Amino acid sequence: MCGIVGYVGFRSAPELLLDGLTRLEYRGYDSAGIAVQRDSEIGIRKKVGRVEELRKLVAANPVRGSIGIGHTRWATHGATTDVNSHPHVGGNGEVVLVHNGVIENYAKLKEQLQGLGYVFRTATDSEVVAHLIAHHLEEQIKLGEDPESVSTYMKAVEVSLKKLKGTYGLAILFRDLPNLILVARAGSPLVIGVGKGEHFIASDASPLAGYTDEVVYLADHEMAVITADHVDLHRRDEGRVKMSVQTINQVSTDLDLGKFDHYMLKEIYEQPESIENCLRGRIDDDSATSKFGGLNIDPQELRLVDRIVLTACGTSWHAGLVGEYLIEEFARIPVEVEYASELRYRNPPLTERTMVFAITQSGETADTLAAMRECKRKGHKSLAICNVVGSTIAREADGGIYLHAGPEIGVASTKAFTSQVTALSLLALYLGRMRHMSYHAGKRMISQLRDMPDTIRRTLGCHDSVREISAKYAGYDNFLYLGRLYNFPVALEGALKLKEISYIHAEGYPAAEMKHGPIALVDEETPSVFVIPRGAIYPKIMSNLEEIKARRGKVIAIACEGDHRIADLADDVIYVPEVEDFLQPLVTSIPLQLLAYHIALERGCNVDRPRNLAKSVTVE
Ligand code: GLU
Repeated sequence: MCGIVGYVGFRSAPELLLDGLTRLEYRGYDSAGIAVQRDSEIGIRKKVGRVEELRKLVAANPVRGSIGIGHTRWATHGATTDVNSHPHVGGNGEVVLVHNGVIENYAKLKEQLQGLGYVFRTATDSEVVAHLIAHHLEEQIKLGEDPESVSTYMKAVEVSLKKLKGTYGLAILFRDLPNLILVARAGSPLVIGVGKGEHFIASDASPLAGYTDEVVYLADHEMAVITADHVDLHRRDEGRVKMSVQTINQVSTDLDLGKFDHYMLKEIYEQPESIENCLRGRIDDDSATSKFGGLNIDPQELRLVDRIVLTACGTSWHAGLVGEYLIEEFARIPVEVEYASELRYRNPPLTERTMVFAITQSGETADTLAAMRECKRKGHKSLAICNVVGSTIAREADGGIYLHAGPEIGVASTKAFTSQVTALSLLALYLGRMRHMSYHAGKRMISQLRDMPDTIRRTLGCHDSVREISAKYAGYDNFLYLGRLYNFPVALEGALKLKEISYIHAEGYPAAEMKHGPIALVDEETPSVFVIPRGAIYPKIMSNLEEIKARRGKVIAIACEGDHRIADLADDVIYVPEVEDFLQPLVTSIPLQLLAYHIALERGCNVDRPRNLAKSVTVE
């Protein structure tokens, strides 16, 4: 996934690159590196671990210059070692680059380049790109092209890129062509920040905050030659194209933890506000419905939609499952929830009346983007529910709903999930009101949604009891999470949170399904987390709980305030406010986020930077 930064201008590049990498660290934190150029000297510093480690290395062994590139890695090919860290060098040092993505045909290219005498120092796929460009540069020069002309370099890059299969965002320095950075993109995001006498490069706009709000989003198969004063944009097979500079709202630079120890906890506590922000301006009281500024779809057209496909990955996929229940119940439109990684290669029969919604926090998730593009290719309207403004999915979708949740930095998603569920509730209301839902039912739904920020505030009151319970259960190595109807996706999400940050094996299941298999796992050593608020099928799930107890399984119940009966049955109870069934996921997911958080802390895990994960999964 990785984050890329670059700078060319008048400031000292190393500090700028290091600060930019810190802001992009959510994208990967296996290792970090920078390359800084001064005339024909390129100094490279790279190190396994967090950007802080790199910062120490650079302090001890400085590099100087006002042009440079940087990378924070999420390894796909080659172990997380200093050597495999980016930047990588091609040829005899004439090309230095950083890469985000995966080169699928790297093995074949590597073999060919080794045959030509290129010596590989790393086990990465990325190094292939560096040598390939060095090779084609040599070829161009042999063909008589001017070794000092930028166009020779561009040709070499263009020929090389055409040989690559896979995805890339690249930032390249050339030893013999100081003062410029060449960037190229196919599948991995890149933004150019336009300043006065300086330019910035980054995987997303966050490192640009405080420097510029003028940006150019590179599109696939575009490349740009960037100097301090100029950007020369080219599109594959079209040549030079005019660039369109956009002004973005200043991105939040809020990396401040405030009174919290971790971003995850801070973001859990931000949920009353993030839900409020998602609702803001989207309620139409007069018509008892919701409204969206950016759906870009005619109500007449929407009225004809007879099937909805929600596609997403991970936590967003769980939000999609809640969306399925919501839209089917309130709008009576059949919904399917598809893993984006599957949908992109499947060929499901979608008709012209099918609407596709991609759900993603970052708007950069590679599989979700690919699934959305596949649907668009077939002519389907594709909409997005997304948090990051200006992200690739947000820009490529025909329309959509922004979450307005603010930056989510903790790798384990929390507030984005509840905001996605809120956005999907609003969508269900909107679609419902243009079909069978009555004015009064719409009014009722609105008033319940409006109460949610306060209800979430009250829900957070369970924190102390969750902390105590977590200490009691942190030593167990297997958990079951069980819920029914709206709380089935919550059970899946609760189990995912625990896996992600405490590395404990956990399975989410529809509570009644557990007797078809998982009940075999139940013993005194495998606690079950039952999501069992009062509601439509409370007595049914109570029977499922009894079935677990009969087998001596320990039970932690997430139940409604005032439910005393559950206290006699469950080993531990976490109480939450009572809400209508359709809003339960917003409430019941909160204690599960806190449970995962505290169990992870008890086990000494790095909550905000869990092993092997990264925030934004921009590789397939
Ligand atoms: N495939 C490259 C590597 O493993 C880049 C991964 C990334 O995008 O961080 O180094």
